[in-house]
Amino acid sequence: MSKKTVRRKWRKKCSVCGTYAGVMNRYGLVMCWRCFKHNAEKIGFRKYD
Ligand SMILES: [Zn+2]
Repeated sequence: MSKKTVRRKWRKKCSVCGTYAGVMNRYGLVMCWRCFKHNAEKIGFRKYD
């Protein structure tokens, strides 16, 4: 479990809340999963499981 080496490229910052934890790039939006989930409902994104 080497977090350091694996996620070097992922130094992205959530554009909404500013955290580095769980940040992902989707649909051109850089945000953490929390904000994404929150905004997904707002914007109208559907979550596919
Ligand atoms: Zn966030």
